[in-house]
Amino acid sequence: MKKLIAGNWKMNGSLAANEALVQAMLAGIGSPKADVALCAPAPYLSQLQLLLNGSPIAWGSQDVSAHEQGAFTGEVSAAMLRDFACRYAIVGHSERRQYHGETDAVVAEKAQRALAAGITPIVCVGETLAEREAGVTEEVVKRQLAAVIHLVGHCITEIVVAYEPVWAIGTGKTATPEQAQAVHAVLRAQLKAATPHPERIQILYGGSMNAANAATLLAQPDIDGGLIGGASLKAPDFLQIVAAANAQ
Ligand code: PEP
Repeated sequence: MKKLIAGNWKMNGSLAANEALVQAMLAGIGSPKADVALCAPAPYLSQLQLLLNGSPIAWGSQDVSAHEQGAFTGEVSAAMLRDFACRYAIVGHSERRQYHGETDAVVAEKAQRALAAGITPIVCVGETLAEREAGVTEEVVKRQLAAVIHLVGHCITEIVVAYEPVWAIGTGKTATPEQAQAVHAVLRAQLKAATPHPERIQILYGGSMNAANAATLLAQPDIDGGLIGGASLKAPDFLQIVAAANAQ
């Protein structure tokens, strides 16, 4: 399966900084074997559309509303993302779950809205440090993914899953390849119960993936790519991760 390397800029960037970053990425991207995408804050999606249209780099949002339209001040609908040709929408990032109270059910609704608009949701799941220490990692990620399977099971092969242990996000602490692979295998088995084609669903690892550790993580049998936070803000680092994915 093709690998996917998706950058998550989080709440970083400016028109000038984005332009420089994207131009540096375009200068070095070549013709990647892997799928590549950048997920930007909503105000910059039109800039990414202008800069990336026709390039090998797709773009996406970091969230999408669970509602179709109407009186939801501040929210951005899937149809709006579609207007800017977003290919992906991250849903259920742990920062959204943690700071904005997004439940498994809301995350599933967001995934459903994205799919209905022809946008691939990148569904994030992952346990906190306390949950890992309590031995409930599998239970947590399975519960999070089950909510999405429950709502969009009929088109589950259209989603991307990202396993992001919360304790590894932005901390410099990466899951070992074995730790990550073990959870990815659990997720793959869960998807297998929902579709005869679980191998078609890219399961990304996210959590301090960087130029130095990408190759060993991406070599694991059930790690189909990476969701990259910090390292997606530096063109050379991001390009090295893409190169590691191309080499698989
Ligand atoms: C993320 O925000 O999805 C992420 C994985 O961040 P980082 O790579 O900075 O840990």
